Amino acid sequence: MIVRRWIFAAALLAALAAPQIAMQASPAAAAEKSLGVVYADGRQTEDVALAKLDRRSDELFISAYDLARIFKATKFWNPGNRKLVLRIGSHRYMFTIDSRAVVVDETPVLLRMNVLYDEGAIMIPLEFITRVLAPRSIEKIELDSSRLLLSIGSPEYNVTDVELVDDRDATRAVLTLTDELLYHIDSETPGILRLKIYGGRLDPLKFALPDGKGLIGRVRAEQVEQDAYLFFDVKKTVQRCRVEFERAEAPAAGEKKTPIKLVLSLDRGNLPEIPEADFAGKKLIEMLDEGAKHKIIEPVRKIAIDPGHGGSDMGRMGPSLVKEKDINLQIALMLRDRLMEELGVDVVMTRADDTLIPLDERVEAANIAGAQLFISIHCNGWFAPDAEGFEVYFLAPARTEEEVRLARDENSSIAYEEPTSGDAGSGDIDFILWDMVQNEYLNESSDLAEMIQREMGKSLGIKNRGVKQTGLRVLKGLKMPGVLIETAFLSNPKEEKLLLNAEFRERLVEAAIEAIRKFQSRYAGKG
Ligand SMILES: [Zn+2]
Repeated sequence: MIVRRWIFAAALLAALAAPQIAMQASPAAAAEKSLGVVYADGRQTEDVALAKLDRRSDELFISAYDLARIFKATKFWNPGNRKLVLRIGSHRYMFTIDSRAVVVDETPVLLRMNVLYDEGAIMIPLEFITRVLAPRSIEKIELDSSRLLLSIGSPEYNVTDVELVDDRDATRAVLTLTDELLYHIDSETPGILRLKIYGGRLDPLKFALPDGKGLIGRVRAEQVEQDAYLFFDVKKTVQRCRVEFERAEAPAAGEKKTPIKLVLSLDRGNLPEIPEADFAGKKLIEMLDEGAKHKIIEPVRKIAIDPGHGGSDMGRMGPSLVKEKDINLQIALMLRDRLMEELGVDVVMTRADDTLIPLDERVEAANIAGAQLFISIHCNGWFAPDAEGFEVYFLAPARTEEEVRLARDENSSIAYEEPTSGDAGSGDIDFILWDMVQNEYLNESSDLAEMIQREMGKSLGIKNRGVKQTGLRVLKGLKMPGVLIETAFLSNPKEEKLLLNAEFRERLVEAAIEAIRKFQSRYAGKG
Protein backbone atom coordinates (compact mmCIF):
# COMPACT_ATOMS: atom_id res chain seq x y z
CA MET A 1 0.00 0.00 0.00
CA ILE A 2 1.27 3.42 -0.86
CA VAL A 3 0.81 6.15 1.69
CA ARG A 4 0.24 9.37 -0.11
CA ARG A 5 1.36 12.66 1.33
CA TRP A 6 -1.25 15.38 1.38
CA ILE A 7 -0.17 17.92 -1.13
CA PHE A 8 -3.20 20.04 -1.77
CA ALA A 9 -4.14 23.48 -0.52
CA ALA A 10 -2.94 24.11 2.98
CA ALA A 11 -5.96 26.26 3.63
CA LEU A 12 -8.28 23.32 3.25
CA LEU A 13 -6.32 21.28 5.70
CA ALA A 14 -5.53 24.00 8.18
CA ALA A 15 -8.54 23.21 10.28
CA LEU A 16 -8.23 19.49 9.94
CA ALA A 17 -6.22 17.08 11.99
CA ALA A 18 -3.08 15.65 10.42
CA PRO A 19 -3.95 12.89 8.01
CA GLN A 20 -3.83 9.43 9.45
CA ILE A 21 -2.29 6.50 7.79
CA ALA A 22 -5.06 3.99 7.21
CA MET A 23 -4.47 1.19 9.65
CA GLN A 24 -7.16 -1.08 8.27
CA ALA A 25 -5.56 -1.61 4.97
CA SER A 26 -7.44 -3.30 2.20
CA PRO A 27 -6.16 -6.84 1.72
CA ALA A 28 -5.90 -6.15 -1.98
CA ALA A 29 -2.22 -6.39 -2.73
CA ALA A 30 -2.72 -4.76 -6.10
CA ALA A 31 -3.34 -1.41 -4.47
CA GLU A 32 -1.63 1.30 -6.40
CA LYS A 33 -3.28 4.46 -5.32
CA SER A 34 -4.96 5.85 -2.32
CA LEU A 35 -8.01 7.94 -1.69
CA GLY A 36 -7.93 10.82 0.76
CA VAL A 37 -11.12 10.96 2.77
CA VAL A 38 -12.15 14.16 4.53
CA TYR A 39 -15.13 14.02 6.89
CA ALA A 40 -17.31 16.85 8.13
CA ASP A 41 -18.57 14.83 11.09
CA GLY A 42 -15.42 15.10 13.16
CA ARG A 43 -13.81 11.84 12.06
CA GLN A 44 -10.13 12.07 11.27
CA THR A 45 -8.99 12.49 7.72
CA GLU A 46 -7.59 9.25 6.32
CA ASP A 47 -6.00 7.54 3.36
CA VAL A 48 -7.72 4.50 1.93
CA ALA A 49 -6.11 2.07 -0.52
CA LEU A 50 -7.48 1.84 -4.04
CA ALA A 51 -6.72 -0.88 -6.55
CA LYS A 52 -6.55 -1.05 -10.31
CA LEU A 53 -7.69 -4.57 -11.05
CA ASP A 54 -8.20 -4.64 -14.76
CA ARG A 55 -5.30 -4.04 -17.11
CA ARG A 56 -7.61 -2.83 -19.88
CA SER A 57 -9.14 -0.05 -17.83
CA ASP A 58 -8.15 2.77 -15.52
CA GLU A 59 -11.09 2.09 -13.25
CA LEU A 60 -10.14 2.16 -9.58
CA PHE A 61 -11.69 -0.12 -7.01
CA ILE A 62 -12.30 0.35 -3.31
CA SER A 63 -12.78 -2.57 -0.94
CA ALA A 64 -16.29 -3.10 0.36
CA TYR A 65 -14.74 -3.17 3.82
CA ASP A 66 -13.45 0.41 3.47
CA LEU A 67 -16.61 1.56 1.73
CA ALA A 68 -18.79 0.26 4.56
CA ARG A 69 -16.61 1.89 7.19
CA ILE A 70 -16.46 5.27 5.41
CA PHE A 71 -20.22 5.42 4.91
CA LYS A 72 -21.15 3.72 8.19
CA ALA A 73 -22.95 0.96 6.34
CA THR A 74 -24.33 -2.20 7.82
CA LYS A 75 -23.23 -5.12 5.67
CA PHE A 76 -24.44 -8.57 4.92
CA TRP A 77 -22.42 -11.00 2.84
CA ASN A 78 -23.95 -14.15 1.44
CA PRO A 79 -21.12 -16.37 0.15
CA GLY A 80 -23.67 -18.84 -1.25
CA ASN A 81 -24.89 -16.54 -3.98
CA ARG A 82 -21.90 -14.17 -3.81
CA LYS A 83 -24.06 -11.21 -2.95
CA LEU A 84 -23.17 -8.35 -0.66
CA VAL A 85 -25.77 -6.01 0.75
CA LEU A 86 -24.79 -2.65 2.19
CA ARG A 87 -27.37 -0.54 3.92
CA ILE A 88 -26.32 3.09 3.79
CA GLY A 89 -28.71 5.72 5.09
CA SER A 90 -32.20 4.72 4.06
CA HIS A 91 -31.11 2.72 1.01
CA ARG A 92 -30.07 -0.85 0.39
CA TYR A 93 -27.38 -1.60 -2.19
CA MET A 94 -26.94 -5.17 -3.37
CA PHE A 95 -23.75 -6.14 -5.20
CA THR A 96 -23.04 -9.42 -6.93
CA ILE A 97 -19.48 -10.62 -7.55
CA ASP A 98 -18.62 -10.52 -11.26
CA SER A 99 -21.66 -8.41 -12.10
CA ARG A 100 -22.01 -4.78 -13.12
CA ALA A 101 -25.51 -4.50 -11.71
CA VAL A 102 -26.06 -2.88 -8.33
CA VAL A 103 -29.61 -3.26 -7.11
CA VAL A 104 -30.62 -0.11 -5.27
CA ASP A 105 -33.67 -0.94 -3.18
CA GLU A 106 -35.45 -2.68 -6.07
CA THR A 107 -33.92 -0.92 -9.03
CA PRO A 108 -30.78 -2.14 -10.79
CA VAL A 109 -28.16 0.36 -11.85
CA LEU A 110 -25.34 -0.67 -14.17
CA LEU A 111 -21.76 0.27 -13.40
CA ARG A 112 -19.09 0.34 -16.11
CA MET A 113 -17.15 -2.52 -14.49
CA ASN A 114 -17.99 -5.65 -12.58
CA VAL A 115 -17.74 -5.92 -8.83
CA LEU A 116 -14.75 -8.25 -8.27
CA TYR A 117 -13.45 -10.65 -5.69
CA ASP A 118 -9.73 -10.15 -5.30
CA GLU A 119 -7.46 -11.82 -2.76
CA GLY A 120 -10.14 -12.19 -0.15
CA ALA A 121 -11.71 -8.77 -0.61
CA ILE A 122 -14.84 -7.65 -2.39
CA MET A 123 -13.77 -4.80 -4.61
CA ILE A 124 -16.26 -2.19 -5.81
CA PRO A 125 -15.64 0.23 -8.68
CA LEU A 126 -15.10 3.75 -7.35
CA GLU A 127 -17.72 4.90 -9.82
CA PHE A 128 -20.31 3.54 -7.39
CA ILE A 129 -19.66 6.45 -5.04
CA THR A 130 -20.27 9.17 -7.60
CA ARG A 131 -22.94 7.58 -9.75
CA VAL A 132 -25.02 5.61 -7.31
CA LEU A 133 -24.34 6.68 -3.76
CA ALA A 134 -23.91 10.45 -3.97
CA PRO A 135 -27.25 11.24 -5.65
CA ARG A 136 -29.12 9.25 -3.01
CA SER A 137 -27.26 10.51 -0.01
CA ILE A 138 -28.56 13.04 2.43
CA GLU A 139 -24.93 13.96 3.07
CA LYS A 140 -23.02 15.88 0.45
CA ILE A 141 -20.57 13.44 -1.14
CA GLU A 142 -17.95 14.85 -3.46
CA LEU A 143 -15.25 12.87 -5.19
CA ASP A 144 -12.47 14.70 -6.94
CA SER A 145 -11.28 11.97 -9.29
CA SER A 146 -8.15 13.75 -10.44
CA ARG A 147 -6.81 14.41 -6.94
CA LEU A 148 -8.42 11.27 -5.52
CA LEU A 149 -10.03 13.17 -2.73
CA LEU A 150 -13.36 12.24 -1.25
CA SER A 151 -15.17 14.69 0.98
CA ILE A 152 -18.20 13.71 2.96
CA GLY A 153 -19.94 16.87 3.97
CA SER A 154 -22.76 17.68 6.24
CA PRO A 155 -26.24 17.17 4.88
CA GLU A 156 -27.99 20.09 3.27
CA TYR A 157 -30.84 20.55 5.65
CA ASN A 158 -33.87 22.54 4.65
CA VAL A 159 -36.07 22.35 7.75
CA THR A 160 -34.16 24.18 10.43
CA ASP A 161 -36.51 25.29 13.18
CA VAL A 162 -39.96 25.06 14.73
CA GLU A 163 -41.31 27.53 17.23
CA LEU A 164 -44.65 27.78 19.00
CA VAL A 165 -46.37 31.12 19.44
CA ASP A 166 -49.58 31.52 21.40
CA ASP A 167 -51.92 34.48 21.68
CA ARG A 168 -55.58 35.04 22.54
CA ASP A 169 -57.05 33.78 19.30
CA ALA A 170 -54.68 31.18 18.04
CA THR A 171 -51.66 29.00 18.60
CA ARG A 172 -49.18 28.95 15.77
CA ALA A 173 -46.36 26.60 14.94
CA VAL A 174 -43.81 28.48 12.88
CA LEU A 175 -41.40 26.36 10.88
CA THR A 176 -38.29 27.74 9.26
CA LEU A 177 -37.45 26.29 5.86
CA THR A 178 -34.79 27.20 3.34
CA ASP A 179 -37.05 26.37 0.39
CA GLU A 180 -40.75 26.56 -0.34
CA LEU A 181 -41.35 22.86 0.02
CA LEU A 182 -44.50 21.01 -0.82
CA TYR A 183 -46.44 19.84 2.21
CA HIS A 184 -49.51 17.93 3.25
CA ILE A 185 -51.43 18.24 6.49
CA ASP A 186 -53.99 15.88 7.91
CA SER A 187 -55.77 15.07 11.15
CA GLU A 188 -56.69 11.48 10.44
CA THR A 189 -55.76 10.52 13.98
CA PRO A 190 -57.95 12.50 16.37
CA GLY A 191 -55.93 14.85 18.51
CA ILE A 192 -52.89 14.73 16.24
CA LEU A 193 -52.02 16.92 13.30
CA ARG A 194 -49.55 15.37 10.92
CA LEU A 195 -47.55 17.66 8.68
CA LYS A 196 -45.65 15.94 5.90
CA ILE A 197 -42.96 18.01 4.20
CA TYR A 198 -42.01 16.54 0.86
CA GLY A 199 -38.25 16.52 0.41
CA GLY A 200 -37.88 17.94 3.92
CA ARG A 201 -34.61 17.28 5.72
CA LEU A 202 -34.59 18.05 9.41
CA ASP A 203 -31.45 19.70 10.73
CA PRO A 204 -30.59 17.66 13.82
CA LEU A 205 -28.32 20.37 15.22
CA LYS A 206 -30.57 23.41 14.87
CA PHE A 207 -33.92 21.70 15.05
CA ALA A 208 -35.04 21.56 18.67
CA LEU A 209 -38.52 20.45 19.56
CA PRO A 210 -40.34 23.08 21.59
CA ASP A 211 -42.38 22.45 24.72
CA GLY A 212 -46.12 22.50 24.29
CA LYS A 213 -47.82 25.86 24.33
CA GLY A 214 -51.44 26.98 24.04
CA LEU A 215 -53.41 24.54 21.90
CA ILE A 216 -50.38 22.46 20.98
CA GLY A 217 -49.09 19.80 23.30
CA ARG A 218 -46.20 17.57 22.41
CA VAL A 219 -44.36 18.12 19.13
CA ARG A 220 -42.53 15.25 17.46
CA ALA A 221 -40.44 15.12 14.32
CA GLU A 222 -39.41 12.23 12.14
CA GLN A 223 -37.16 11.91 9.12
CA VAL A 224 -38.45 9.21 6.77
CA GLU A 225 -36.43 8.67 3.62
CA GLN A 226 -36.65 11.94 1.66
CA ASP A 227 -39.56 13.38 3.58
CA ALA A 228 -39.88 14.98 6.99
CA TYR A 229 -42.87 14.60 9.27
CA LEU A 230 -43.98 16.72 12.20
CA PHE A 231 -46.64 15.56 14.59
CA PHE A 232 -48.48 18.02 16.80
CA ASP A 233 -50.65 16.84 19.67
CA VAL A 234 -53.50 19.32 19.72
CA LYS A 235 -56.15 20.22 22.28
CA LYS A 236 -59.64 18.96 21.70
CA THR A 237 -61.00 22.50 21.49
CA VAL A 238 -59.16 23.10 18.25
CA GLN A 239 -61.65 23.54 15.45
CA ARG A 240 -59.75 24.92 12.55
CA CYS A 241 -56.28 24.64 11.19
CA ARG A 242 -54.66 26.75 8.52
CA VAL A 243 -51.24 26.27 6.95
CA GLU A 244 -49.55 28.90 4.84
CA PHE A 245 -46.19 30.25 3.77
CA GLU A 246 -44.94 33.54 5.10
CA ARG A 247 -41.86 35.02 3.57
CA ALA A 248 -39.40 36.92 5.73
CA GLU A 249 -38.41 40.36 4.44
CA ALA A 250 -34.68 39.97 3.90
CA PRO A 251 -32.02 37.35 4.42
CA ALA A 252 -30.50 37.52 7.89
CA ALA A 253 -26.83 38.42 8.13
CA GLY A 254 -24.67 35.49 7.11
CA GLU A 255 -27.56 33.63 5.46
CA LYS A 256 -27.49 33.14 1.74
CA LYS A 257 -31.15 32.36 1.27
CA THR A 258 -34.14 34.14 2.68
CA PRO A 259 -35.61 31.76 5.19
CA ILE A 260 -39.21 30.90 4.55
CA LYS A 261 -41.74 30.47 7.33
CA LEU A 262 -44.38 27.81 7.09
CA VAL A 263 -47.05 28.69 9.61
CA LEU A 264 -49.60 26.31 11.00
CA SER A 265 -52.31 28.24 12.86
CA LEU A 266 -54.85 26.68 15.15
CA ASP A 267 -57.88 28.80 15.96
CA ARG A 268 -59.07 28.83 19.51
CA GLY A 269 -62.66 27.72 19.28
CA ASN A 270 -65.50 29.15 21.36
CA LEU A 271 -67.14 25.81 21.94
CA PRO A 272 -66.84 23.97 25.23
CA GLU A 273 -64.51 21.02 25.37
CA ILE A 274 -65.98 17.95 23.76
CA PRO A 275 -66.47 14.97 26.06
CA GLU A 276 -63.95 12.17 25.55
CA ALA A 277 -66.66 9.73 24.49
CA ASP A 278 -67.66 11.83 21.50
CA PHE A 279 -64.11 12.56 20.60
CA ALA A 280 -62.88 9.10 19.80
CA GLY A 281 -62.72 8.26 16.14
CA LYS A 282 -64.02 11.60 14.95
CA LYS A 283 -62.28 14.01 12.70
CA LEU A 284 -62.81 17.27 14.46
CA ILE A 285 -60.47 19.68 12.87
CA GLU A 286 -61.59 21.47 9.79
CA MET A 287 -58.74 22.18 7.43
CA LEU A 288 -58.91 25.62 5.99
CA ASP A 289 -57.74 26.40 2.53
CA GLU A 290 -53.98 26.45 2.65
CA GLY A 291 -53.32 30.07 1.77
CA ALA A 292 -53.18 31.50 -1.70
CA LYS A 293 -51.53 28.40 -3.10
CA HIS A 294 -54.78 26.55 -3.19
CA LYS A 295 -57.20 26.97 -6.02
CA ILE A 296 -60.82 27.28 -5.19
CA ILE A 297 -62.35 24.03 -6.16
CA GLU A 298 -66.02 23.85 -6.84
CA PRO A 299 -67.89 20.90 -5.42
CA VAL A 300 -66.72 17.96 -7.51
CA ARG A 301 -69.45 17.12 -10.03
CA LYS A 302 -67.45 15.59 -12.84
CA ILE A 303 -64.56 13.13 -12.65
CA ALA A 304 -62.40 11.83 -15.48
CA ILE A 305 -61.34 8.19 -15.26
CA ASP A 306 -58.47 7.03 -17.38
CA PRO A 307 -57.95 3.28 -17.84
CA GLY A 308 -54.26 3.00 -18.81
CA HIS A 309 -53.17 1.60 -22.20
CA GLY A 310 -55.59 -0.04 -24.68
CA GLY A 311 -55.67 -1.49 -28.19
CA SER A 312 -52.21 -2.44 -29.42
CA ASP A 313 -50.67 -1.01 -26.23
CA MET A 314 -51.32 -3.83 -23.81
CA GLY A 315 -49.36 -2.37 -20.89
CA ARG A 316 -47.76 -4.94 -18.64
CA MET A 317 -48.38 -8.65 -18.82
CA GLY A 318 -48.92 -10.94 -15.85
CA PRO A 319 -47.27 -14.38 -15.43
CA SER A 320 -50.49 -16.05 -16.60
CA LEU A 321 -50.67 -13.63 -19.52
CA VAL A 322 -53.27 -11.31 -18.04
CA LYS A 323 -53.05 -7.98 -19.84
CA GLU A 324 -52.81 -4.74 -17.91
CA LYS A 325 -55.07 -2.88 -20.38
CA ASP A 326 -57.95 -5.26 -19.59
CA ILE A 327 -57.58 -5.10 -15.82
CA ASN A 328 -57.32 -1.30 -15.94
CA LEU A 329 -60.52 -1.05 -17.97
CA GLN A 330 -62.46 -3.42 -15.74
CA ILE A 331 -61.47 -1.53 -12.59
CA ALA A 332 -62.18 1.81 -14.27
CA LEU A 333 -65.67 0.77 -15.38
CA MET A 334 -66.46 -0.46 -11.90
CA LEU A 335 -65.18 2.82 -10.47
CA ARG A 336 -67.33 4.75 -12.95
CA ASP A 337 -70.53 2.94 -11.98
CA ARG A 338 -69.91 3.22 -8.25
CA LEU A 339 -68.94 6.89 -8.42
CA MET A 340 -72.14 7.75 -10.25
CA GLU A 341 -74.16 5.66 -7.86
CA GLU A 342 -72.57 6.62 -4.56
CA LEU A 343 -71.44 10.21 -5.10
CA GLY A 344 -73.91 11.19 -7.80
CA VAL A 345 -71.16 12.64 -9.99
CA ASP A 346 -70.75 12.58 -13.76
CA VAL A 347 -67.91 10.50 -15.10
CA VAL A 348 -65.93 11.02 -18.28
CA MET A 349 -64.05 7.97 -19.51
CA THR A 350 -60.91 8.53 -21.58
CA ARG A 351 -61.66 5.13 -23.06
CA ALA A 352 -64.52 2.76 -22.37
CA ASP A 353 -63.41 -0.07 -24.64
CA ASP A 354 -60.27 -1.70 -25.93
CA THR A 355 -58.95 1.16 -28.04
CA LEU A 356 -55.67 3.00 -28.16
CA ILE A 357 -56.06 6.64 -27.12
CA PRO A 358 -52.93 8.82 -27.21
CA LEU A 359 -51.86 10.14 -23.79
CA ASP A 360 -52.25 13.79 -24.78
CA GLU A 361 -55.76 13.15 -26.09
CA ARG A 362 -56.75 11.67 -22.75
CA VAL A 363 -55.69 14.93 -21.07
CA GLU A 364 -57.49 16.97 -23.69
CA ALA A 365 -60.70 14.97 -23.33
CA ALA A 366 -60.74 15.54 -19.56
CA ASN A 367 -60.01 19.26 -19.99
CA ILE A 368 -62.69 19.74 -22.65
CA ALA A 369 -65.27 17.88 -20.59
CA GLY A 370 -64.51 20.20 -17.67
CA ALA A 371 -63.72 17.36 -15.31
CA GLN A 372 -62.64 18.42 -11.83
CA LEU A 373 -60.55 15.39 -10.94
CA PHE A 374 -58.53 13.00 -13.10
CA ILE A 375 -57.78 9.46 -12.02
CA SER A 376 -55.61 7.19 -14.11
CA ILE A 377 -55.71 3.47 -13.37
CA HIS A 378 -52.69 1.21 -13.98
CA CYS A 379 -51.00 -1.96 -12.76
CA ASN A 380 -47.37 -2.01 -11.76
CA GLY A 381 -44.71 -4.45 -12.91
CA TRP A 382 -41.14 -5.44 -12.29
CA PHE A 383 -38.81 -8.19 -13.43
CA ALA A 384 -38.53 -9.60 -9.92
CA PRO A 385 -41.76 -11.51 -9.25
CA ASP A 386 -41.77 -10.60 -5.56
CA ALA A 387 -42.10 -6.84 -6.13
CA GLU A 388 -45.44 -5.99 -4.55
CA GLY A 389 -47.85 -3.34 -3.36
CA PHE A 390 -49.69 -0.26 -4.47
CA GLU A 391 -48.60 3.32 -4.95
CA VAL A 392 -50.21 6.57 -6.06
CA TYR A 393 -48.41 9.14 -8.21
CA PHE A 394 -48.82 12.81 -8.85
CA LEU A 395 -46.97 14.94 -11.38
CA ALA A 396 -43.77 16.47 -10.03
CA PRO A 397 -40.10 15.83 -10.82
CA ALA A 398 -39.04 12.34 -9.85
CA ARG A 399 -36.74 12.08 -6.85
CA THR A 400 -35.61 8.49 -7.11
CA GLU A 401 -34.44 6.17 -9.85
CA GLU A 402 -37.53 4.07 -9.20
CA GLU A 403 -39.81 7.03 -9.90
CA VAL A 404 -37.88 7.80 -13.08
CA ARG A 405 -38.27 4.20 -14.17
CA LEU A 406 -42.02 4.24 -13.62
CA ALA A 407 -42.46 7.38 -15.71
CA ARG A 408 -40.40 5.81 -18.47
CA ASP A 409 -42.57 2.68 -18.40
CA GLU A 410 -45.91 4.45 -18.37
CA ASN A 411 -44.86 7.15 -20.84
CA SER A 412 -43.68 4.51 -23.29
CA SER A 413 -47.32 4.17 -24.41
CA ILE A 414 -46.37 7.00 -26.74
CA ALA A 415 -44.44 4.51 -28.84
CA TYR A 416 -47.76 2.95 -29.93
CA GLU A 417 -49.30 6.23 -31.00
CA GLU A 418 -49.38 7.52 -34.56
CA PRO A 419 -46.75 10.20 -34.96
CA THR A 420 -48.53 13.52 -35.04
CA SER A 421 -47.35 16.25 -37.38
CA GLY A 422 -45.59 19.20 -35.85
CA ASP A 423 -45.07 17.46 -32.53
CA ALA A 424 -41.47 16.43 -32.87
CA GLY A 425 -41.04 15.65 -29.19
CA SER A 426 -43.87 13.17 -28.83
CA GLY A 427 -41.75 10.15 -29.64
CA ASP A 428 -39.14 11.07 -27.09
CA ILE A 429 -39.98 9.56 -23.75
CA ASP A 430 -36.97 11.02 -21.99
CA PHE A 431 -38.32 14.55 -21.97
CA ILE A 432 -38.21 16.46 -18.76
CA LEU A 433 -41.75 16.82 -17.60
CA TRP A 434 -42.38 19.90 -15.68
CA ASP A 435 -45.68 21.34 -16.32
CA MET A 436 -46.90 24.77 -15.31
CA VAL A 437 -50.54 23.89 -15.87
CA GLN A 438 -50.62 20.87 -13.59
CA ASN A 439 -48.23 22.63 -11.20
CA GLU A 440 -51.09 24.94 -10.25
CA TYR A 441 -52.83 21.92 -8.82
CA LEU A 442 -49.76 20.46 -7.16
CA ASN A 443 -51.12 20.69 -3.62
CA GLU A 444 -54.51 19.28 -4.56
CA SER A 445 -52.99 16.47 -6.60
CA SER A 446 -50.63 15.49 -3.82
CA ASP A 447 -53.48 15.71 -1.31
CA LEU A 448 -55.67 13.47 -3.45
CA ALA A 449 -52.78 11.03 -3.86
CA GLU A 450 -52.25 10.97 -0.07
CA MET A 451 -55.94 10.40 0.55
CA ILE A 452 -56.22 7.53 -1.94
CA GLN A 453 -53.00 6.01 -0.60
CA ARG A 454 -54.31 6.15 2.95
CA GLU A 455 -57.72 4.65 2.14
CA MET A 456 -56.15 1.86 0.12
CA GLY A 457 -53.73 1.24 2.95
CA LYS A 458 -56.69 0.62 5.24
CA SER A 459 -58.44 -1.89 3.03
CA LEU A 460 -56.22 -3.54 0.40
CA GLY A 461 -54.06 -5.65 2.67
CA ILE A 462 -51.03 -5.46 0.37
CA LYS A 463 -47.80 -3.53 0.78
CA ASN A 464 -48.24 0.24 1.00
CA ARG A 465 -45.43 1.71 -1.11
CA GLY A 466 -46.39 5.30 -0.40
CA VAL A 467 -47.18 8.36 -2.43
CA LYS A 468 -44.71 9.01 -5.21
CA GLN A 469 -44.05 11.70 -7.74
CA THR A 470 -42.75 11.56 -11.27
CA GLY A 471 -43.02 13.01 -14.77
CA LEU A 472 -46.11 11.27 -16.07
CA ARG A 473 -47.20 12.32 -19.53
CA VAL A 474 -50.84 11.43 -18.90
CA LEU A 475 -51.03 14.04 -16.13
CA LYS A 476 -49.30 16.76 -18.13
CA GLY A 477 -51.48 19.73 -19.05
CA LEU A 478 -54.42 18.66 -16.91
CA LYS A 479 -56.46 21.63 -15.74
CA MET A 480 -57.57 19.80 -12.63
CA PRO A 481 -55.96 17.78 -9.84
CA GLY A 482 -54.81 14.45 -11.24
CA VAL A 483 -53.27 11.23 -9.94
CA LEU A 484 -52.18 7.88 -11.31
CA ILE A 485 -52.86 4.76 -9.26
CA GLU A 486 -50.55 1.76 -9.64
CA THR A 487 -53.01 -0.67 -8.14
CA ALA A 488 -50.81 -3.74 -7.60
CA PHE A 489 -48.00 -5.65 -9.32
CA LEU A 490 -49.31 -7.61 -12.26
CA SER A 491 -45.83 -9.19 -12.47
CA ASN A 492 -46.30 -10.73 -9.03
CA PRO A 493 -48.28 -14.01 -9.34
CA LYS A 494 -50.04 -13.40 -6.02
CA GLU A 495 -51.08 -9.89 -6.94
CA GLU A 496 -52.03 -10.91 -10.46
CA LYS A 497 -54.55 -13.23 -8.83
CA LEU A 498 -55.80 -10.41 -6.62
CA LEU A 499 -56.27 -8.13 -9.60
CA LEU A 500 -58.49 -10.78 -11.15
CA ASN A 501 -60.45 -11.12 -7.93
CA ALA A 502 -63.78 -9.25 -7.87
CA GLU A 503 -63.70 -8.74 -4.13
CA PHE A 504 -60.21 -7.19 -4.23
CA ARG A 505 -61.28 -4.84 -7.01
CA GLU A 506 -64.32 -3.90 -5.01
CA ARG A 507 -62.14 -2.90 -2.06
CA LEU A 508 -59.91 -0.95 -4.39
CA VAL A 509 -62.80 0.96 -5.91
CA GLU A 510 -64.38 1.62 -2.52
CA ALA A 511 -61.10 2.98 -1.17
CA ALA A 512 -60.83 5.36 -4.13
CA ILE A 513 -64.40 6.55 -3.61
CA GLU A 514 -63.86 7.09 0.10
CA ALA A 515 -60.76 9.16 -0.70
CA ILE A 516 -62.66 11.25 -3.25
CA ARG A 517 -65.40 11.78 -0.69
CA LYS A 518 -62.80 13.06 1.81
CA PHE A 519 -61.17 15.21 -0.83
CA GLN A 520 -64.53 16.68 -1.67
CA SER A 521 -65.40 17.52 1.90
CA ARG A 522 -62.02 19.10 2.37
CA TYR A 523 -62.09 21.29 -0.68
CA ALA A 524 -65.68 21.84 -1.71
CA GLY A 525 -66.75 25.40 -1.22
CA LYS A 526 -63.50 26.45 0.42
CA GLY A 527 -61.44 29.39 -0.64
ZN1 LIG B 1 -49.59 1.09 -17.09
